[in-house]
Amino acid sequence: MAATPITDHPDYLRLREIRAGDLSSQAEREALAALAATTSEPRVALLAQTWQIVETRHAGAHEEAVVLLAETLGLLERVDLSDVTRSFARDALMGLAAGVSSALDVPEVDFAAIDDLIQRLETFAQSLELRPLLLWEVRIRRHSMVGDTREAEFWSKRLLPHVNYTNRFMNGLGCPNCTLGVIAWLRGPTVDPDELDVMFRPVFSGNTNYPGEDRSLLNAVFKGSPPPQCDSGLQLCSTVFGRSLLYAGRFAKAARRIKQARELGPGGTCLLPEIASLEVALAMGSPKSIDKACTELAPLAEKHEDIEERFLAQLRIVQAHRTRGRVAPTDAAALSASRLDKRLKRDTYTEQLARELAEGPPFPLKDAARLPTFL
Ligand SMILES: [Zn+2]
Repeated sequence: MAATPITDHPDYLRLREIRAGDLSSQAEREALAALAATTSEPRVALLAQTWQIVETRHAGAHEEAVVLLAETLGLLERVDLSDVTRSFARDALMGLAAGVSSALDVPEVDFAAIDDLIQRLETFAQSLELRPLLLWEVRIRRHSMVGDTREAEFWSKRLLPHVNYTNRFMNGLGCPNCTLGVIAWLRGPTVDPDELDVMFRPVFSGNTNYPGEDRSLLNAVFKGSPPPQCDSGLQLCSTVFGRSLLYAGRFAKAARRIKQARELGPGGTCLLPEIASLEVALAMGSPKSIDKACTELAPLAEKHEDIEERFLAQLRIVQAHRTRGRVAPTDAAALSASRLDKRLKRDTYTEQLARELAEGPPFPLKDAARLPTFL
């Protein structure tokens, strides 16, 4: 018996309605969960759950996203997707890949499990005739996390020519701003800012002219105007660029970029803009700015589930307090470091913590002589 086209199913239309509606993130997650639980159409249940993963990840609840991913993979085994539309397939892939990204943020998920998930989703993408570009981005992150710069560079070089809106629509890659921001962030803060200047040119000059676009598709979608810019991607690019300027000692430009990034809205999902603000304050040695940035960052860091970012925030907060002559316990940062090191099976983060607490922040300080030593 041929399956009913999914686009005709009333529960699918309900799903589209939930997605297009103006619900808060929490309300949308609840509506999606309710639909997944009650629909008799397994394809709708699958798609509703994958959207739930995306929303859960965006809310920063990575552990919950991983649990949802495991459930959804179970469902995937039992669903026939042979007749779904391209946009259905793309959206399902995006949801599942968001779950793998969240798994990378939870250090208790080991890399062997991550590699299996990547492989499985690449096969899934190919079975639906989608290019697995989104999984290439996950690969860059996975290799960067273990310090394998050669593999990370290999996948970055492979992905960069495909970062455009065409692949956003056709293959479910993230928007170019977000994707370029992530690739650049994974290069680390000591990357040459002039290199990033070239990489980010399409982002910073009108969000247009990405390589390899299908012009007729873009004209059909955006009616000849440039695509509306994604603020969180722009914020990430500005922050990453600002940090590279800071680490290169170009303070004024760095401060300007990071200020622009902060003006695009509060962080939360990503702590980098707030971390970068504290780093600028530390580099400039201004007590007032250090205290302000520290007060803003501390409560966010406490509940942040992305442990790499949390660790970096906790380390900078300790450095900030010590700079101001205050006693600052290091156990919270040490706990994050040990969770990260456990998965790596080496003491990378514990050593970084000890080193940077002894030597001070790794970026050049404007007037280091004015600062008390950290010991
Ligand atoms: Zn984006």
